[in-house]
Amino acid sequence: MYTMESIDKKIQILQDIINNSNSIVFFGGAGVSTESGIPDFRSTSGLYNQEWKYPPEQIVSRTFFNHKCSEFYKFYCQKMIALDAKPNPAHFKLAELEQKGKLSAIITQNIDGLHQAAGSKNVFELHGSVHRNFCLNCNSFYDASFILEQHKIDSEGIPHCTKCNHIVKPDVVLYEESLDNNTIDNSIKAISKADTLIIGGTSLVVYPASGLVRYFKGKNLVIINMSPTDYDKNSTLLIQGKIGEVLSRISVV
Ligand code: NAD
Repeated sequence: MYTMESIDKKIQILQDIINNSNSIVFFGGAGVSTESGIPDFRSTSGLYNQEWKYPPEQIVSRTFFNHKCSEFYKFYCQKMIALDAKPNPAHFKLAELEQKGKLSAIITQNIDGLHQAAGSKNVFELHGSVHRNFCLNCNSFYDASFILEQHKIDSEGIPHCTKCNHIVKPDVVLYEESLDNNTIDNSIKAISKADTLIIGGTSLVVYPASGLVRYFKGKNLVIINMSPTDYDKNSTLLIQGKIGEVLSRISVV
């Protein structure tokens, strides 16, 4: 494991790994979007360290959605929908790696859609997306702007279906809900076939998502994260730094 080298040396090693890889999979989380201005959950400026009437992990649970929907939408619309956010250099570099045939898939725990906004095509969204919302009764589709508008208009801040007046729910996997089976299967297939797995911007503490990393059988396990993770000891290259800054220094040939 290369832990003692300078950041320049580590980025050179990462460059060599990427040059010699043909099937990279990227596995990421909220830290990938902090450089786009979206707070993560567990950094000191993250959502878990902000003052709310209820702890965020309680708010983003299905029980809370069912019983305190108005409070859920207050937090969700203020803190989890960021339609003005733009992709940062990490998103763009990963999209470029895919376009050049180096990267086969992105597996993300993020719900912000910024990988797709940067041009990435094969993105597995383990926890869903703020951009998809469905009526819990008739399954009608709504986009994120609809949710924000209805949150403002409705007396309790709860978006309702324009067809049947039932509550609309984001297609976001809340605590106590299951991940989509197809998305998990596709993620496992992609990770099992990868020659390099780059993990970035995730504390790797949210299960079952982080358990997917165990399916990696390839050569290079790279971790780019600001703070330590339980998987650091398994990495072949560990870079402690901002992922946008690190990936912006990589050339794609
Ligand atoms: P987390 O908050 O638990 O961990 C984020 C990790 O990223 C931390 O280890 C932090 O040190 C690191 N980090 C922060 N900024 C970084 C940067 N610029 N470069 C490198 N590392 C950086 O996030 P998680 O592991 O993704 O789990 C939280 C859950 O909440 C996930 O389901 C996540 O998708 C969701 N969430 C999503 C968003 C989003 O869609 N943008 C935002 C907040 C939370």
